Amino acid sequence: MPVSDQAFVTLATNDVYCQGALVLGQSLRDHRATRRLVVLVTPQVSNLLRVILSRVFDEIIEVNLIDSVDYIHLAFLKRPELGVTLTKLHCWTLTHYSKCVFLDADTLVLSNIDELFSRRELSAAPDPGWPDCFNSGVFVFQPSLETHGLLLQHATDHGSFDGADQGLLNSFFSNWSTADIQKHLPFIYNLSSNTAYTYSPAFKQFGSSAKVVHFLGSSKPWNYKYDPQTGSVLEEGSGSVSQHQTSFLNLWWGIYHHSILPLYENIRHEDEQT
Ligand code: UDP
Ligand code: MN
Repeated sequence: MPVSDQAFVTLATNDVYCQGALVLGQSLRDHRATRRLVVLVTPQVSNLLRVILSRVFDEIIEVNLIDSVDYIHLAFLKRPELGVTLTKLHCWTLTHYSKCVFLDADTLVLSNIDELFSRRELSAAPDPGWPDCFNSGVFVFQPSLETHGLLLQHATDHGSFDGADQGLLNSFFSNWSTADIQKHLPFIYNLSSNTAYTYSPAFKQFGSSAKVVHFLGSSKPWNYKYDPQTGSVLEEGSGSVSQHQTSFLNLWWGIYHHSILPLYENIRHEDEQT
C-alpha cells in the first residue's frame, strides 16, 4: 500500500542538478518506492525541465528565498553564501507530510529503502571525512514550521562552519553523534563513491550491500562522457577513477540513457503533434 503522508525529497536549483534529481527519482521508482516523490526547485529551473521532472516526481514544489517571509529574507541578505543551504532547509516546510527522507540530487538508489521511514529525526550516516559529523546528503526528518524557523534563526545567529547545509545541520542537531545510536544510519545508506580509496578492504567486504551511492565532491556523474554502445563512461585525463566508482557511474548513466533521455524525446513528439 502506498503511504501518501510520507515522501522522498530532493532539491535542484538549476537544470544541471535536475539531471541528477531525475536519475535519483527514477532509481527510487525502479526499486518500487512506496512513498511520494517530491522535488524542490528554484525559479532558475526551466519550464522544459519542470515538465520532465513531472514525469518522474509526484510533486514539484517551487521554493524561493527572496519572496519568503521577512526573517528569511533578512537572514539571506546577511549571509548570501548560505543561499543553497537555506534552500535545502525549505524541506522542513513540507508539513503536508508527517515524515520525509531527504536525498541529495547526486545520490543514486540501488535497492528499496522504504525501511528508512521507521527512523526518527534526525537520522543520517556518518560523514566519511569526519565521522563524528553526519553527512547531509541523506537524512530522515520531520517537517515542522517550528523547526524550520529555529534552523533559520540558527543560520542567522551562527552561520555554518563549512558554509553549507552540512555544517549548519550538524551544529543544530549537535548531539547526533552521541545521543541515540538508532539515528546513525548504516554507511550503506550513504556510500560515498570515492571512499573506497581510504578503506578498500571494507568496501570489498560490505560494498555489495550498498543501498544508496552518493557522488559527493566536485566531479558529478553528469560531468562524465558516456558511450551507450559499450555502456560505460569514458575515462579521460587523470585516470584516478577506481573500478567500483566506474561501475556506479555506469549504473547512473545506464538509467539516464534508458529512462531519462526518452522523456525528452516523448515531449518533443507531443509538441510536434500539437
Ligand atoms: N544543489 C543544487 N544546486 C547547486 C548545488 C547543490 O540544487 O548548485 C543541491 C543538490 O540537491 C545537491 C545538494 O544541493 O545534491 C548538495 O550539493 P552537492 O551534492 O553538490 O554537495 P556534495 O554532496 O558534493 O558535498
Ligand atoms: Mn551531494
